[in-house]
Amino acid sequence: MLVIGGGPGGMEAAIIAAERGHEVELWERTARLGGALLAAGGPVFKKDVLDYAEYLVNKTHRSDATVKTMKTATAAEVLAGNWDKVILAAGSRATIPPIKGIDGPNVVLANDVLTGKAKFGKKVVVLGAGLVGAETAAHCKTEGAEQVTVIEMLPQRLMTVEHCRNNEQALDQLLADTEVEFITSAKLTEFGDGIVTYEVDGTEHHLVTDTSIIASGYTSNNELFDELIEHVDVEMVGDVIEPDSILTAVHGGFHIARNI
Ligand SMILES: Cc1cc2nc3c(=O)[nH]c(=O)nc-3n(C[C@H](O)[C@H](O)[C@H](O)COP(=O)(O)OP(=O)(O)OC[C@H]3O[C@@H](n4cnc5c(N)ncnc54)[C@H](O)[C@@H]3O)c2cc1C
Repeated sequence: MLVIGGGPGGMEAAIIAAERGHEVELWERTARLGGALLAAGGPVFKKDVLDYAEYLVNKTHRSDATVKTMKTATAAEVLAGNWDKVILAAGSRATIPPIKGIDGPNVVLANDVLTGKAKFGKKVVVLGAGLVGAETAAHCKTEGAEQVTVIEMLPQRLMTVEHCRNNEQALDQLLADTEVEFITSAKLTEFGDGIVTYEVDGTEHHLVTDTSIIASGYTSNNELFDELIEHVDVEMVGDVIEPDSILTAVHGGFHIARNI
């Protein structure tokens, strides 16, 4: 069988299927296993997530599954393999809203900041006050940014987040300690050269910024499923179904492998 994607969902599926005696190959398009866990565990205050990533990655490499990194699955290549079973665990990608200047040189993705691929300056603006935006803002403050402002369209921060009360309290405390500023009910309209424009109640405002960070949600990488479904036995696991959580991805990976 073939597992596409080396995030937590794909790794768990590969480990369990190999333990159960299946011949398993896992393809990961980047150079490393880990998927979104590498960004999720990027902030110093989420080291437990990075530890878990390391545990799963080591377990995958120790399993009998054959791991191929720098290997991007395309429909043609998958079908050429004549696999009995394909598990699509290709996760999700950042959603890029159609805002003027978003492709500018000082606009970067939250995942790239959290994994150290993208640098940021002293004055930072974050687009989106969901979990990723709030954590990225706190991360920037703990890593040297002097002023971090999060701009959010909804009336409150973390409105899209479902988590338990103690996590919420810990995050609230962290945001207070790091003095991250939030501007809610605000629509970011343009990323300019060193300046960001936003509107509140129809009035235009500006913020000086060195770096703007996009944290405005994720879109499932589910295109391959549509290309494969009529030709091979394929099932999906984790964020490729809907961007969700580590638990959902690992749980899904375990059960899909158990039921083969
Ligand atoms: C910044 C951030 C913070 C988060 N914090 C938390 C948290 O605190 N708690 C929590 O529960 N969840 C959190 N999440 C969500 C969690 O990380 C994801 O739900 C989980 O990683 C999904 O796992 P997955 O295996 O489905 O996909 P992913 O982890 O996205 O892995 C998919 C993998 O597939 C690879 N891939 C994609 N297309 C192909 C292809 N064609 N061929 C080969 N490989 C391919 C990708 O490179 C990637 O490695 C966070 C996510 C982010 C981005």
